[in-house]
Amino acid sequence: MPIPADHNLIDLAAREEVLLAPYAQHSVASLGRKHLEAVHSYRGPFQRDRDRIIHSAAFRKLSHKTQVYTGELDDFHRNRLTHTLEVASISRTLARALRLNEDLVEALALAHDIGHPPFGHAGEDVLDECLQRFPADDGQGFNHNQQALRICELLETRYATFPGLNLSIEVLEGQTSRANKNDPSSQSPLLESQVVDAADSIAYDTHDADDAMELGLLSLDELLEVPLWHEAADRVQRRTDELTPDHMRRAVLHELIDWQVSDLVATTTARLREADICSTSDVRKAAPLVLPTKELAEKKEELEVFLFRRVYRHERVLSKRVVAQQSLTQLFEQYMAAPDQMPSEFRCRIAESGSSRTVADFLAGMTDRFALSQFARKG
Ligand code: MG
Repeated sequence: MPIPADHNLIDLAAREEVLLAPYAQHSVASLGRKHLEAVHSYRGPFQRDRDRIIHSAAFRKLSHKTQVYTGELDDFHRNRLTHTLEVASISRTLARALRLNEDLVEALALAHDIGHPPFGHAGEDVLDECLQRFPADDGQGFNHNQQALRICELLETRYATFPGLNLSIEVLEGQTSRANKNDPSSQSPLLESQVVDAADSIAYDTHDADDAMELGLLSLDELLEVPLWHEAADRVQRRTDELTPDHMRRAVLHELIDWQVSDLVATTTARLREADICSTSDVRKAAPLVLPTKELAEKKEELEVFLFRRVYRHERVLSKRVVAQQSLTQLFEQYMAAPDQMPSEFRCRIAESGSSRTVADFLAGMTDRFALSQFARKG
């Protein structure tokens, strides 16, 4: 007997009704997409969003983009792609424990850093400075969260009938809330979006420290002076015998993630109950709910201050910042002077977006190594 076209979507709605909490974003309640598309017979809307992001060129390029450390230092450390996958993994754990929509969480996590230019935050700062010099174009500067939206809504060209990836409104809203997170007038985003923000913070705090140790920028003993690491190490030592330094490091790292995730699940569950949150509209009206306890938040803050001072400002990391500044600034100026040297899909956007924004789109889409090869060729 043929299966009715919407058979599996009925299944999906019924399954989500059982598995998801009332305050989760149910697929059946999605506001849809900007460009109307037929419903898929067996993939839900957020599954399709996740697949579109994974199959995008911008997502693939994350494998050759810096997270904190460039590929010249060694091969162990995280790059922007592995960081993204770690965020997706932690986000899914949180989503399942809190009975949220895992498909939506995964799509949001996979897209969250897709707008990063080459050379991490150093590259972002350079492009921002370059664009600020051309206020007549749009005056918006450069921000990786805004760039992610630009990629998803305009720059990816996978479909003949619309620009961008035509993602669900909820995914675009989640990314917009990341871009506007310092705007006090904006509503709280969906819990699925709040979970990804929290997972991002857990991932970079722990893994940047881990990478720094591997690269010899920090020792475990130095990190143990930071209260968050010290307490995690105490927790490990209370339940295990003597460990070698390598095993200790891995055990502390695991403990740090597990502790922070467990803390978030417990505190978020308590907050949801206290605030009597029963729907996505309750979530939007409430203050942010997916936050660690005050005690843990203070400890994370101390770790971030320590990492900023000791790692992000380490001379080996800063020396790469200089390379980013020189290469991206020079490439920006060269393509501004000769925009016809950009590929045609960028040249044709100059009339609509202006030269400086178009050059920034082109440069932001480069991987670290492609930017360096262009710089070497033109420099
Ligand atoms: Mg991130």
